[in-house]
Parts: sequence; C-alpha cells; structure tokens
Amino acid sequence: MPQRLIVVGGDAAGMSAASQARRRRASDDLEILVFERSSFVSYSACGEPYYVGGYVTDIGQLQVRTPEEFAAMDITVHTRHEVTGLDPKAGKVTVRHLEAGTDTTFGYDLLMYATGATAFVPSIAGRDLAGVHVLRTLDDALALRRLVTEGAQHAVVVGGGYIGLEVAEALHHHGVKTRVLTSGPAVLERTLDPDMGTLVTERMRGMGLEVSTGIRVHSLQGVDGRVARVDCPGGVCFEADVVILGLGTRPEVQLAKEAGIPLGETGAVAVNSRQQTKVEGIWAAGDCTEALHRVSQRAVNIHLGTIATKQGRVAGINIGGEYATFPGVLGTAITKVCDLEIACTGLTEAAATAAGLAYHATTIDSTTTAGYWPEAANMRLKVLAECGSGRLLGAQIVGGPGAGKRIDVLATALWSNMRVDELMQLDLAYAPPFAPVWDPVLIAARKAWETGR
Ligand code: FAD
Repeated sequence: MPQRLIVVGGDAAGMSAASQARRRRASDDLEILVFERSSFVSYSACGEPYYVGGYVTDIGQLQVRTPEEFAAMDITVHTRHEVTGLDPKAGKVTVRHLEAGTDTTFGYDLLMYATGATAFVPSIAGRDLAGVHVLRTLDDALALRRLVTEGAQHAVVVGGGYIGLEVAEALHHHGVKTRVLTSGPAVLERTLDPDMGTLVTERMRGMGLEVSTGIRVHSLQGVDGRVARVDCPGGVCFEADVVILGLGTRPEVQLAKEAGIPLGETGAVAVNSRQQTKVEGIWAAGDCTEALHRVSQRAVNIHLGTIATKQGRVAGINIGGEYATFPGVLGTAITKVCDLEIACTGLTEAAATAAGLAYHATTIDSTTTAGYWPEAANMRLKVLAECGSGRLLGAQIVGGPGAGKRIDVLATALWSNMRVDELMQLDLAYAPPFAPVWDPVLIAARKAWETGR
C-alpha cells in the first residue's frame, strides 16, 4: 500500500511540494491528492493585476500548470474542494465539494499545509455591495476584469500596498479614473521608509493617479445594491463604481488553529528549517508559515511567491525522503507603477529600530544609465548600514526603467553579510547604455561608508 500525501491548497507552495515529492517517490510508494477551493491550481497571482489591466488577455496564461498536467504526473487535483476539517490524531481531513455541497472524509499519512493567505476585509458598512472586490485568486481577477470591461468609470483602491498600487496602475491603464486611499503618510508604508514612499506618492500623482494619504474609509454607500460612493470621516467622500480592498493579507491558519497545529509569534504556522510543523507528519510552507529573517534573526510572515515556491520545494524534497532546509528570507521585492520601478530588500528604518539595531541611512540620487544617454532615468537609492560594523542592513530603490532590478545586487550583498566598504569595491559592469561609470549601488555604498566612518 502506498502512503498518502494530502496537499491542502494548490498554488505556489502546495504544488511545488507535490511536484518535488513526486519526483522522488513514484505513485506506488506515494499517492498525492491535492484539494484546492478555488477553480484553479498552480496559478500566478502575481500576474493578476496585469490581466485586470488588459496587458495579459488570456487568463489561461496565468496558469503555470493545469490539473491535467498534474494528472500526467500522477498527482490528483480536486479544484472547488475545500478542506473544512483536519484531525491530526485520526490522520483524517474532511473535504467539502463546493459545487455539490457534499462532505467526504479522507485519511492521510502525510499532510502538506499550504493554505496561503487571505485578503483582509475590514468590518465596514457596505463591504458586501456589488462592485467591492479583493484581488487574491484567479476567480477574483476574472470578476474584476469583468467589471472593467463592462465600463467601470471610477475606481477607489483602499490601501497603498504593492498589490493596491499594481491594481491602481492596471485600472488607470484601462482608462478608469482611479484614486488610492492610504491611512499612512505615503504609499507602500510597510515596505518603504516614508521618504521613499513620498517619492512614489508624488510620482503617481504626476502620472494622473489620485492619491489621498492619511485617510481612513468610514463606510461604502450603494445604490440598488451596487457600490456608488466611499465615505471617509469629516464628510470627505469619493464617487466609485468599483472599490478594491487592498488592505493587506493575513496568513490563512484557521484550519491549523482548530487542529492544534502550533502557530508562531507572528500568528502564522511555526515550522522548522525543513518546513515541518510541530505535529508529526504535517508539513507547511508559503504565506501561511513563518520564516526566519536573515538580517533581524526574527520570525517573520512575509507574503511573496518567491518565498512560497522555495519553501514548498524544501518541504517536497523532505517528504520525498531527501534532506533540504530553507535558509531564511530578506523580503526582497519589486513592483512598478506605470514606468516607475520600486524595490526593496532587508530592513527599513522602522524594522531596524524594532530589531534593536543601530543604523545610519544614506540616500543618493543618480541615473540608470550614463547621464547623457537618451534613455537615462532618475533613480533614488537608500541604504541602511549598521553603526560601527558598517554591515548592510537594507536597501530601497525608486526610479525609472532600469532602476529596480539593481536591488538584486544589494540582496546578494545582504545575503552574504557584506559591509558597505566591501559593497563599494564590487566589480560591477559599466557601459553608457547600462549605468554611469560609478553604478548607483556603488555610489550609495561609498557614501554610506563615508557617513559611517
Ligand atoms: P496561495 O497562493 O494563497 O495559495 C493557497 C491556496 O490554498 C489558494 O489557492 C487557496 O484557495 C487554497 N486554500 C486555502 N485554504 C484552503 C482550504 N481549506 N481548502 C482548500 N484550499 C484552500 N509575490 C511575489 O513574489 N511577487 C509578485 O509580484 C507578487 N504579486 C502578487 C500580486 C497579487 C495580486 C497577489 C494576490 C499576490 C502577489 N504575490 C507576489 C504574492 C504571491 O502570489 C504569494 O506569496 C504566493 O501565491 C503564496 O503562495 P502560497 O501557495 O503560499 O499561497
């Protein structure tokens, strides 16, 4: 009799784990069943804003692998099936077939918990009105795209995180008059320091996007069951026939909590470096789990596909009988709003302070290419270095085309615990169409070193 692996959640982490386990264990040794409550498995949520905005026209392009392709690997996928109960003592899950409304119990030997995260929906009046959306699954993207093509005129994006900004760009690109509302002093307040976030906010305004900072939504008002207006305190209101709630995501841990799988200090599932939970036979990976931050050495719960796929791979290798560990995260991320590129890695000032690290911050302005090159675009780069040691702690970039991916050099330096005096010596490539002779990364490192001397 083969062992049975049940995978709860069929996206980045779950399907990476299933694929890696299958590569190492044939179907006569390991049966793999995946239960996914949405209509799709193995999809690129990251591409959803670009489908909503019409850059990607076929939703199928966002499916990395179909259930049929998994079936060919002897991985059985059930979409529209939600795991509603988990009993680790009995080794059983209860699964609801969402179309038929029937419940079935399945036994398991091993379980991969990969439920991801859910969009946070605040308990404000009007949140159930038609036209009010979140963007998480491909089903959400399909629904939002439908609204846009049906002629939405005024959109309000509540929340200035990167998903909110990407959706705002998509709607703006489609000709929908779009406003972003954020409670902080600037957009991207969790990933950028306010000075860098303010730069993004100003550039967005310059591109014709409306951005209101320091504002909270009080309620959503509707006409005939459809959203029509967003009300804020002080009598401030905005017309809207589409509202996107982009207020962040929370790890989806309800099932784990009910089953007694211990959570960590962040509220996500606690795992060891092999992605094992504290319950025998249960593995976990992705947005629903914690990871070690390599700079702060603290547990974090950061929701990124880059992390989920790597953690899922590690879990799958271990389930497959080999040995692998996940080395931790830096939180490196990148996004764009129109032609503005935004990227970060490591700690912000707030995160460094919370971690008890004394730092100095250095900001420089430069260009993406030689200044005289026709496509030269401005970019600002900020680095944080530890006082005394000069160890790099984090970096943020805001700039035109060609600026953002420079974060990878900084992420590599951070991964290797480099000091800014080492970073400034790096032998980086130069020719006028690609960089100034002193790349902005080197300029920032040099200035940080001078500041810290
Ligand atoms: P998920 O992708 O959330 O998958 C979990 C799955 O589990 C879901 O499909 C859910 O339906 C299912 N599920 C949950 N509970 C149950 C249950 N009880 N029974 C059955 N099924 C269940 N990351 C980046 O690195 N770069 C980007 O550019 C980027 N852009 C993004 C843009 C958007 C719009 C969104 C929403 C996310 C983006 N991300 C990006 C984040 C990235 O998509 C996630 O970090 C990644 O998908 C996490 O993978 P996961 O498998 O852990 O969770």
